[in-house]
Amino acid sequence: MEHEVGRAHARATMTAFVAAAVLALPQPGPSGGEPAPTLPAAQHAAAARPEPVAIAPPPTTPGCGAAAGAAQGTVGGVLLDLARVMCSPLGPAAGLPPTTLEAQEPERLYALVDADHAVRPARYAPEDLVPLAGGPYEAREEVAEHLDLLLAAAAEEGRTRLVVQSGFRSYADQAGSHEDWVRRVGADRAAKVSAPAGHSEHQLGLAVDLTGPCGFACTGDTPEERWVAANAHRFGFLVRYPEGGEKVTGYAYEPWHLRYVGPRAAWGMHLRGEAYWERFAGIALESAEGLPG
Ligand SMILES: [Zn+2]
Repeated sequence: MEHEVGRAHARATMTAFVAAAVLALPQPGPSGGEPAPTLPAAQHAAAARPEPVAIAPPPTTPGCGAAAGAAQGTVGGVLLDLARVMCSPLGPAAGLPPTTLEAQEPERLYALVDADHAVRPARYAPEDLVPLAGGPYEAREEVAEHLDLLLAAAAEEGRTRLVVQSGFRSYADQAGSHEDWVRRVGADRAAKVSAPAGHSEHQLGLAVDLTGPCGFACTGDTPEERWVAANAHRFGFLVRYPEGGEKVTGYAYEPWHLRYVGPRAAWGMHLRGEAYWERFAGIALESAEGLPG
């Protein structure tokens, strides 16, 4: 079933400034996983896994100290503190005003959750879940707000056939989902398309599955999916499991799985041409130091 999800309702809690800042920065690049199976531990460990990916150190910027106190400037219509911009590993994205999650919960927002990194505590569930546009699913409030902005922008450009197919999933939900995958396709294949319980970004309330009109049969080639791949970062989302990225992410391409990391980190990755959260999560967390909590 399709839902017309284009008309986003502007939430009172979303400041116009943040929205304007996100929308004003320069345009596109691309950057999904399904809930994993609950494999017995031994079986899970035996599944083929990519080599751990080192987190690249941030580039050093000469003159950062001297630049402190420099004047402000504008980039894409957004007023930026030039010293912060020059010295931050996020580059120009550091000038964006931090969202609530960026300022107050960076360790949660920037958590790397994959086959090797579990959600902690294992039964964690966010307390601010709200309904997502057009369906029965939920995510954290800031995620829902930014998804509304994304859907509204997509609709303005005629991309009205995007459908929210999943949001928050509890530890128990994920366990059931993953067991279904194992029964349907076997443990090996299931490990590439579904996360075991406790290892899904959906449990964070920060992941949304957003498909084109063909649903999970879509392969990234519809106008809707191409729009999302090119624009998700403007709203703080990553296409988390990019095409060809299985060796890095451990998962097959999922054009629909969007992970919310906030506009600063998503823009930072986009501007650096970095497609993988595995390589950027640490940089994002470092950049969060010094933000008002
Ligand atoms: Zn997903």
